[in-house]
Amino acid sequence: MKEALFYSKADNLDVKCHLCPHQCLIKQGHKGLCGVRENREGILYTLNYGKLSAIHIDPIEKKPLHHFMSGTNTLSVGSYGCNLNCQYCQNYSISKKCPYTLYKSPEEVVTMAIDNHLPSISFTYNEPTIFYEAVLDTAKLAKKAGLKTIMVTNGFITNEAFEYLLPYIDAVNIDLKTFNQQTYKKFCYGDLEPVKETIRIAYKHAHVEVTTLIVTDMNDNEEELTRLFHWLSTIDKKLVLHLSKYYPNYNYHAPQTDTQFIYRMAEKAKQYLDYVYVGNV
Ligand code: SF4
Repeated sequence: MKEALFYSKADNLDVKCHLCPHQCLIKQGHKGLCGVRENREGILYTLNYGKLSAIHIDPIEKKPLHHFMSGTNTLSVGSYGCNLNCQYCQNYSISKKCPYTLYKSPEEVVTMAIDNHLPSISFTYNEPTIFYEAVLDTAKLAKKAGLKTIMVTNGFITNEAFEYLLPYIDAVNIDLKTFNQQTYKKFCYGDLEPVKETIRIAYKHAHVEVTTLIVTDMNDNEEELTRLFHWLSTIDKKLVLHLSKYYPNYNYHAPQTDTQFIYRMAEKAKQYLDYVYVGNV
């Protein structure tokens, strides 16, 4: 257990967490919405520091990143917990539960990458924002060792925390879940504007690719998706977009996404963006 970064003290041993836009006010003895940051006697602790639920060697294209270090493998590590609550979560066994974990220090993770001749480390599987302290410590060591670092994220992080981490991150894949604020709230307990801001900031400092999972009866809406494509093109037509297929999971049981619809939307997206890929079909 390690003291958390990005929090302030409030009255009566309460603390306020500033890591993500939820800005949880956490009472003594309680946890924030993500379930992995706990207030003990007025000090905020991260509960999942170094606790890895998954360690794999993956092709970098699986992250997905198609325009960064193509053809290489990456050491992929994930912990547990999430700061969103997507009803259709495709990874809920680690985002919503506390699975079996193995402690690996940042030094051990970097050594593992080097020993396996891997040129990069990816923070992925669950949301890296909420194992921020371990990501930061590992990424700093990785940079010193000449490795690249990758974050696969929902983008729901405060500007302050993200900008502090970015000098140690080379590439980011950001989930843009929907382009409708109400849908973000209702299906994911999130918020569209902070995620848009994360994409804008990331694009100035790192290689960025965006993923949108097209979910049946949630965002499989041509008009909404067209607005999303257009908005991404205002950042840069060369921004890489992945359109991905949803499968029923967690609390959401609508049928899997119609594959033909995804391909049709990919064609539409290509009217706005130079690089569009279909995934998970
Ligand atoms: S990181 Fe967790 S505790 Fe902090 S504001 Fe977000 S949900 Fe709340």
